[in-house]
Amino acid sequence: MSDLKKMNEGTKYSHGSIGSIADFNGKVFVKDGLNESSCEISFGVLNPGEAVPFFHSHRENEENYIILSGNGLFQVNDEVFPIGEGSVVRVATGCDRNLKNTSDGRMVYICVQAKEGSLGGYTMTDAELTDRVSLL
Ligand code: ZN
Repeated sequence: MSDLKKMNEGTKYSHGSIGSIADFNGKVFVKDGLNESSCEISFGVLNPGEAVPFFHSHRENEENYIILSGNGLFQVNDEVFPIGEGSVVRVATGCDRNLKNTSDGRMVYICVQAKEGSLGGYTMTDAELTDRVSLL
C-alpha cells in the first residue's frame, strides 16, 4: 500500500508525492495531506481482472476519472463502455459507477472529485499574468 509523502509546504502551497507510479499500489487520497479545499484527488491501481469492489454514487460531487495506464471497462448505471490509457470520464452526481481492468497490465488512474456545478472561472478566465521574475 502506498502513501502520500509530504514533500514540502509554504504558506501558499503544499507538495506531496506518491513516488514512482510504476511502484504505486492501492489507493491514496490526497485532500487531507495537502489541505485541499476545492476537490479530493485520489490515485488508484487495479490489477489485471480487478474492479473496484463496490458500486457507489455521490450526492454532491461529480467525479473525473483519468486513466494513466491499462485498459478496461467503465460502467455508469446500466451503460458499459471501454476505457484505456488517456481516457477521462466525468460522472455526474446521483448515478452508480465502477471501473474494471480487463488488460494484462496494471490500470493506474486518478480520480478528481469536486462539487458539481461549482467551477466558476477557469484557465484564462480565472488566471492573471503577473510580473514575477522567474527563479527557475
Ligand atoms: Zn467516488
